[in-house]
Amino acid sequence: MSDTCIFCRIVAGTIPATIVASSDTAMAFRDLSPQAPVHVLVIPRRHTASLADAVDAAELGAVLALAAEVARIEGVAESGYRVVTNAGPEGGQTVSHLHLHVLGGRQMHWPPG
Ligand code: 5GP
Ligand code: ZN
Repeated sequence: MSDTCIFCRIVAGTIPATIVASSDTAMAFRDLSPQAPVHVLVIPRRHTASLADAVDAAELGAVLALAAEVARIEGVAESGYRVVTNAGPEGGQTVSHLHLHVLGGRQMHWPPG
């Protein structure tokens, strides 16, 4: 837990968020600034700065599995969706707590910007 990390504070319940799903290891909540009709962030409860710092394969698996569960809960598992993680400055990461974006409910395009 990092006192200065906004997502750690969401895990601790000191900053409000709309929780979509959770497990012992991971948590999913709606993005504050949604870029698609479905835009949910999935994070490990334990602070990890980014994918570059992730060392626990089981934890990563649990985060990915919760992302798939979110897609089912949000009703986009069949229509399709995108899971993306931004890592580091050139990856476009703005919050330094590992998170997967689950985006869906509209047509996604490639390549991303
Ligand atoms: P990144 O740019 O690091 O890949 O994604 C960070 C995401 O966190 C952004 O999509 C941003 O809208 C979201 N975000 C930033 N602060 C908050 C917050 O306090 N609550 C929630 N729910 N989302 C946030
Ligand atoms: Zn954190």
